[in-house]
Amino acid sequence: MRPLLVTAADVVELVGRVGLGRFIDGLIARLEEVLRRWRELTVVPRVSFQYPAGVVEAMPASDGRWYAVKVVNGHPDNPRRGLLTVVALGVLVEVETGYPVMVADATLLTAFRTGAASAVATKHLARPDSRVLGIVGTGAQSEFLCLSIGRVAPIEEVVYYDVDPAAMGKFERNVRPYGLRLTPASSGREVAERADVLVTATAGRGRRRVVERAWLRPGTHVNAVGGDAPGKTELDPQILLDAKVVVELLEQALVEGEVQNVGKGAVYAELWEVVSGLKPGRVSRDEITVFDSVGAAFEDLAALTYLYELAAAEGVGREVEGLLPSPADPKDLFSLLRLRR
Ligand code: NAD
Repeated sequence: MRPLLVTAADVVELVGRVGLGRFIDGLIARLEEVLRRWRELTVVPRVSFQYPAGVVEAMPASDGRWYAVKVVNGHPDNPRRGLLTVVALGVLVEVETGYPVMVADATLLTAFRTGAASAVATKHLARPDSRVLGIVGTGAQSEFLCLSIGRVAPIEEVVYYDVDPAAMGKFERNVRPYGLRLTPASSGREVAERADVLVTATAGRGRRRVVERAWLRPGTHVNAVGGDAPGKTELDPQILLDAKVVVELLEQALVEGEVQNVGKGAVYAELWEVVSGLKPGRVSRDEITVFDSVGAAFEDLAALTYLYELAAAEGVGREVEGLLPSPADPKDLFSLLRLRR
């Protein structure tokens, strides 16, 4: 068995070959498909270890054919050291044999799947005529969120704000080629007051209030992305009390999501219930909806299986000889050591 090694450069190559829009569309479709097969999945909250500098997490999920696990971190001060806030490695295991078939960079993939998850939620919860996307926090995830949401909603204008002007400049440069009207704002309030679809994707510590309830217009859909750990939230809790709130996995959201501040009673549904039609998404123009996203392992299962199939089809990545041992006699592992006596 020679697992496929897929590096960050390979992911870049694949996206280039498939085309960014098609790559995102395929991932959104795969995620929806996985959500519709929810009862076939094994899903558990991720295992998070908290450290003063950040969090390191193991995220396993399975659909009975594949077992995927991602190791990922969240270190808000990393950019000051020239490092990413979030970096990830994924392993895809074939359930039948238990052998890993792929080891992959999952950092770009995490950004794509975070964008895809918010896109799926936006598709089912936002007003279908949402034209203005607001983004508070234009860091590493922001372009992925913006372009993914743009695949499912008729977004024409993006209003954006970050406390770091350099991050706003970077966002503008990266998104400029995609034909959206870009409007820099001078506060989170200005963004929230204009948005039909609002994304909060800030990195920070503590229970913050990046967006206040009073700033939201009726009918806004919020993708709350940056509140994703115990004691790390972004929204005025009143928003959650007034809104239709959808989470990825209730058990995990109650510990890590915005809803940790208000409790279970504020949660309307898990995303799979809305995607599979068990519970209606938006039912009126005026209701405020919130996707309280923390990032869940089933999203990485969708992303890693998607990447594996694409990489295999396109011949991208390389099979690594010798990464796993293959003794002639599977009961004689010791023979591989070839020790001199
Ligand atoms: P990043 O550090 O690259 O970007 C975060 C940005 O937020 C920075 O540019 C920072 O200046 C800005 N910011 C901080 N406080 C702000 C405020 N009050 N108003 C406006 N801007 C502010 O981080 P990233 O990789 O883009 O991730 C963003 C957040 O999303 C992080 O908190 C991360 O943990 C989280 N995240 C969630 C998921 C998920 O699935 N829900 C996935 C990946 C990352």
